[in-house]
Amino acid sequence: MGLREVLVERRAATVARIEALARDREGIVASASGVAVDDEHDPEGVTLGFERAHVESLLAGARARLAELDAALARAPHDLGTCEGCGGPIGEERLMARPETRVCVGCAARGSTR
Ligand SMILES: [Zn+2]
Repeated sequence: MGLREVLVERRAATVARIEALARDREGIVASASGVAVDDEHDPEGVTLGFERAHVESLLAGARARLAELDAALARAPHDLGTCEGCGGPIGEERLMARPETRVCVGCAARGSTR
């Protein structure tokens, strides 16, 4: 699997996690609206407030990760196109055929990895 595919897969997983967390938050907000919200005197209100803050922080983390993955994906075509053997361009044709490759045709022929 190529770096880009890995990035795309992780991005999809992160998007799914954000959606799941958003649903969790909605569920917490829905339960909170069903009770008298008094954080100081209602034990359940405290718990819901804590859970909501926890989900909010998880959501913020997942959104930050999504931004990092998007940035990496934006860099990926360039970074993937440089040969690790000689530092030269790998070539688009080879990259399309073998997106996971890290070396150009010349280096591959000389027996470098992949
Ligand atoms: Zn090379």
